[in-house]
Amino acid sequence: MKIIFIGRNYVDHIKELENDRPKEPVVFLKPDTSILLDKNPFFIPDFSQDVHHEVEVVVKINRLGKHIDQKFAHKYYDEIGLGIDFTARDVQASLKAQGLPWEKSKSFDGATVVSREFLNKRDLGDLNNLDFSLHKNEHLQQQGNTSLMLWSIDEIIAHVSQFFTLKIGDLIFTGTPAGVSRVAPEDSLTGTLAGHQLFSIRVK
Ligand code: ZN
Repeated sequence: MKIIFIGRNYVDHIKELENDRPKEPVVFLKPDTSILLDKNPFFIPDFSQDVHHEVEVVVKINRLGKHIDQKFAHKYYDEIGLGIDFTARDVQASLKAQGLPWEKSKSFDGATVVSREFLNKRDLGDLNNLDFSLHKNEHLQQQGNTSLMLWSIDEIIAHVSQFFTLKIGDLIFTGTPAGVSRVAPEDSLTGTLAGHQLFSIRVK
């Protein structure tokens, strides 16, 4: 299975990193080895002094498809979860400055948190108006709403399926809002989607 990520999908996060607003979705992939195993802590890797959390709404694909029309995209998922796209910001900045791919900064072991529980979309109401948040040590660190995405879930599926065949079990991370910050040992990171706490992890 593959994990597809959308970058720069929230204007407030684009601004905080002083990136340009993209004309089409920014897309990258991570391997399944990047998934942080259940109940394990996140270990800050030796090669970075500046790992950031990025909380993101996650869509789980439940049908095989390619070249999916936006109006049928909703048929390709039933469940919505929450995750973290950990990013070694110092490594990413160096790679970006050299015009090189981002994988070393984002796709390392443990860099992807996926909530164990996913919520059925039928129970969530309007998917284009979902609140989600990340608390760092009881402090509300990131707060987003899917209405603020540049590209909606269905638009993302239509776009990425022009390039990649989507398979059952593939995950799509839909971008992070503002409030990303460096993690430190002993931090706890708790993610909430539509009032449901979906993960809580410890940093080491
Ligand atoms: Zn991200």
